Amino acid sequence: MLDKIKNIVKGEVGSSEKELALFSHDASIFEIRPRVIVHPKDTEDVKNLVKWVSQNKNSDVELSLTARSGGTDMTGGTLNNSIVLDFTTHFNKILNVEDAPPHAIVEPGVFYRDFEKETLSKDLLLPSYPASREICTVGGMVANDSGGEKSLRYGKTENYVEELNVVLSDGEEYVFKSLTPEELEQKKLQDNFEGEIYRQMHDLLELNHELIQKAKPNVSKNSAGYLLWNVCPPAQAGNGKKFDLTRLFTGAQGTLGLITKIKFRLIKPNKYSRLLIIFLRDLNNLGEVINMVNKNKPESFESYDDHTFKLAIKILPDLIRKIGVSALFRFIPDVWKIITGGIPKMVMLVEFTGDEEVELIDRIKKYQKEISDKFKIKTRITKNENDARKYWIIRRESFNLLRKRVKGKKTAPFIDDLIVRPEYLPEFLPKLNEILKQYKDYMIYTIAGHPGDGNFHIIPLMDLDEKSKKIIPELSEKVYGLVLEYHGSITAEHNDGLIRTPYLEKMYGSEVYKLFEKTKQIFDPKNIFNPRKKVGTDIGYAMDHIRKN
Ligand SMILES: Cc1cc2nc3c(=O)[nH]c(=O)nc-3n(C[C@H](O)[C@H](O)[C@H](O)COP(=O)(O)OP(=O)(O)OC[C@H]3O[C@@H](n4cnc5c(N)ncnc54)[C@H](O)[C@@H]3O)c2cc1C
Repeated sequence: MLDKIKNIVKGEVGSSEKELALFSHDASIFEIRPRVIVHPKDTEDVKNLVKWVSQNKNSDVELSLTARSGGTDMTGGTLNNSIVLDFTTHFNKILNVEDAPPHAIVEPGVFYRDFEKETLSKDLLLPSYPASREICTVGGMVANDSGGEKSLRYGKTENYVEELNVVLSDGEEYVFKSLTPEELEQKKLQDNFEGEIYRQMHDLLELNHELIQKAKPNVSKNSAGYLLWNVCPPAQAGNGKKFDLTRLFTGAQGTLGLITKIKFRLIKPNKYSRLLIIFLRDLNNLGEVINMVNKNKPESFESYDDHTFKLAIKILPDLIRKIGVSALFRFIPDVWKIITGGIPKMVMLVEFTGDEEVELIDRIKKYQKEISDKFKIKTRITKNENDARKYWIIRRESFNLLRKRVKGKKTAPFIDDLIVRPEYLPEFLPKLNEILKQYKDYMIYTIAGHPGDGNFHIIPLMDLDEKSKKIIPELSEKVYGLVLEYHGSITAEHNDGLIRTPYLEKMYGSEVYKLFEKTKQIFDPKNIFNPRKKVGTDIGYAMDHIRKN
């Protein structure tokens, strides 16, 4: 296989022990060893590979192509037992960033941190960046439909994808963007695979319009399943009927095609930002606090719990390296508050922004007073960016640092991305804690997340042994059962991969799941793109591939 692939691509092709070991893991609990790693040099390479795999699929049913960019996926989305394509080696150019209108054209393997430097130099921002902003790429953000601290105000990546170049399963590259009804009819007349896709997808969406719109979870963020309802949502006033297949590739985890270029819409960020920090001693008033904060329309609203805080203290040397010793001293007033008032159950970071600094500070002081007066809780306003940075570091880096530092136990993302509407939280969270408590002998867990959206990340630390193969499905069933009771979604932003695809039918029901299968079949009839993600797997396969090291 190696030699055949070397003959058809210009990029590097590898199968060294070291490389295969590296690409056997991502940030998930899984381990799957690929056969070959290809670093495609250009779109021609990608097209040639797709054609070759398609031609040889009949004689080698396991042959497939899985895209990988930053490799920070928490679901096993980048793992496969066949060919893995690394997009970071050559698809790493920022082609254009422009102000009027604000947009950027970029290749999928560009790291978000580099992209942001370029956009901020023009006073522009892609506001859907995830907490993994230092280690993930823009391609992974699109394929997972990622969200982050600013999604409360600006939404997820799906809101910023204007155009995608995608190599489809016929081995050709096509450009996808929002189409008017007339443009859609033109596409449907085309006598090629692209025309076929538009004909079949339009039929599927028209015939099942009501079922699909009803299936859309009533939460502000959702990455579960194929986002069919986003392709042609009901026409809105002033915004005629559109048909946009970028909305389907976004969040599809590379199961429908390989993304080779992205055009993003960008925003102009506000000039000034301040954080209101809220220390909650208990969760009794959580729902009311969240409602009150949300009313003031913050730019972001993040939280971490007492478990995260205690673990952050344990990994202090790493944190000092990240935030610097001097910044650590600025923690002393907080530590004092904690010593005198006890470790808070939850620390909330509420960010407000504006273009006038004095107005912003006056506004945030008013909100602080309202909250402190009503709930008698400790709060503080950060003085400047440096002061705010330490809180952001704990929130953004806690999982990443834990991943590397907690000896003996492994971080096990499997119920890592729940979302229910915030108004349900006062009822939902105690029930969730009751379920988790039953497993406290097997795992330590932290809860951090985005309370403004009702989206929480529970990342247990546990032994990944035989027992975990029983606990993971059992606990997932219970937690997802509760989430669905409250009409939520099993994943707001981290996506499905191997860990959640088995629960999509439970979430959406068999009729909608069949539409997911049909969608996959329309785009990828031979199942060559990232098999077992979104459709076609079970929890047994996942448990058989839990990582051993
Ligand atoms: C510490 C940490 C914190 C995180 N925090 C967040 C968070 O706040 N919000 C959030 O949404 N996620 C978060 N994640 C998950 C993950 O980082 C994001 O989903 C991220 O956007 C993935 O980007 P990546 O470049 O690492 O993608 P990868 O892991 O390489 O790939 C992700 C998926 O995209 C597919 N893919 C990659 N490139 C292409 C391509 N060119 N064409 C088609 N498909 C492609 C892959 O096959 C895979 O299914 C976090 C992860 C970690 C480790």
